[in-house]
Amino acid sequence: MRLDDLDVTDRVVLVRSDLNVPLAADGDGHVTITDDGRIRASVPTIAGLRDRGAKVVVLAHLGRPKGAAKPGLSLAPVAGRLAELLGAPVGFVPAVTGESVTAEVARMSPGDVLVLENVRFDPRETSKDAVERATLAEEWAAWAQAYVSDGFGVVHREQASVTDIARRLPRAAGTLVDKEMASFARVLSDPERPYVVVLGGSKVSDKLAVLANLVGNVDRLLIGGGMAFTFLAARGLEVGNSLLEVDMIPTVQQIIKDAQERGVDLLLPVDVVVADAFAADAAVKVVAADAIPVGWMGLDIGPQTAIAYANALSDARTVVWNGPMGVFEMAPFADGTRAVAEAMASCPAFTVVGGGDSAAAIRLLGIGEERFDHISTGGGASLELLEGRSLPGLAVLEESA
Ligand code: ADP
Ligand code: MG
Repeated sequence: MRLDDLDVTDRVVLVRSDLNVPLAADGDGHVTITDDGRIRASVPTIAGLRDRGAKVVVLAHLGRPKGAAKPGLSLAPVAGRLAELLGAPVGFVPAVTGESVTAEVARMSPGDVLVLENVRFDPRETSKDAVERATLAEEWAAWAQAYVSDGFGVVHREQASVTDIARRLPRAAGTLVDKEMASFARVLSDPERPYVVVLGGSKVSDKLAVLANLVGNVDRLLIGGGMAFTFLAARGLEVGNSLLEVDMIPTVQQIIKDAQERGVDLLLPVDVVVADAFAADAAVKVVAADAIPVGWMGLDIGPQTAIAYANALSDARTVVWNGPMGVFEMAPFADGTRAVAEAMASCPAFTVVGGGDSAAAIRLLGIGEERFDHISTGGGASLELLEGRSLPGLAVLEESA
């Protein structure tokens, strides 16, 4: 069901949002939100429901409290920030279920917004036992009349506030989840060509399933980041102290062969920025990919590679990016990621960015988020979609009510 078709006026509507923002605590235990991107991304659905006269009750988690109340992981400051962004009061109950929650909900008027405490304070939220999860979902379903799934960052999880509650109520995807699904659908089925996928980040093993799923469909595959060194090693090159997953070499050789057989252009670094230590003040030089000196490690793609990758992106019509080209967090190793992100932002393609660190790189390097068609809010969930998997939190929305 579409959100517009869900009956919400005068009803208590549970919204599962992803409000899992990074926090910094000072000495006095005062907490500040260091990046409110996920709260901002959650506002449209909540604002839309308010406008339609719903009584909006928000379910969300923060960090990994492991099933017990942790004061530092309370959603109270997040509720405060949500109120500022929404431009409306937001209530907060320091409980996940129980009498205080039911009493607050009973007092709500149409247009009110109430945030409940971190759902992961209740061990049943993430329990592997479906019966345990169901008891928590039943407690919410006792007073809620509809469910909106808007926490894209958790739709790959089988959890009480994601799947179990959804099955018990009339439900729909929220605005954010809708946009995420539409963007991934566009790059996963029948993409406009040339279709270019840029993969980087730290480990091949993290991205293996993505490689396997996409290699049959893409026109060009550009490899950077730490995983590039396992590719270079698979081609028989010495990689010095660079990140290397030796046991992945045979698998990577198979991927290289598959790409060749399917006519996929597989681009690997031709030059590399190497350093004598994993540090921002290390000694740094640019070397050819087949001349990485013993004792040095590759921490970014080199300038020739950046030019080649930018070229490969220049006429793309569809681009998927997952994983930075280098250790962008340190200025001497950020150029490759900057150049490739800039090329993506400038090309005529429909561009989708999946991966938390890639999104962080766009912000940190000041590329301009608005220059990408879609920057996913869910790292894990976006990876699983790119792997071609069905996500439980999305599948449950399609089950007939
Ligand atoms: P994403 O979150 O976008 O999917 P990953 O989590 O896979 O990306 O990887 C991001 C991390 O990879 C970054 O912290 C970055 O510093 C690291 N990285 C990139 N290139 C290298 C490299 N050559 N050596 C070691 N780490 C790297
Ligand atoms: Mg990451």
